[in-house]
Amino acid sequence: MTYVVNDKCILCKHTTCVSVCPVDCFYEGPNMLVINPDECIDCGVCEPECPEDAIKPDSDSIVHWTDINREYAEKWIDNQITEEKPPMEGYEEARKIPDKTDLFDPGD
Ligand code: SF4
Ligand code: SF4
Repeated sequence: MTYVVNDKCILCKHTTCVSVCPVDCFYEGPNMLVINPDECIDCGVCEPECPEDAIKPDSDSIVHWTDINREYAEKWIDNQITEEKPPMEGYEEARKIPDKTDLFDPGD
């Protein structure tokens, strides 16, 4: 099992989750973070740290997000993030958008 990041992270990126992860398995894209499902040890300590409620345990209903987390953790492998930094500018407005999936930025 793993935990995964979903669309609620998009355009927010508070990064409060990364400093608590014991195995440093968060990777940063242009406007969201992902978890590498193959590195996550399923400890769950990051879930309550996310102010956007963007981190969830893997389940059948969010398997597409697990796939996205796996795909982009590989693509963004050089962008491992382990230290907290300020959230994205404008996150207060972005957090009001009910579904941000279409706003995902995969990068180059
Ligand atoms: S704390 Fe939540 S919103 Fe912030 S970067 Fe982590 S997953 Fe994204
Ligand atoms: S569940 Fe644990 S190991 Fe997995 S990403 Fe969160 S803090 Fe890291």
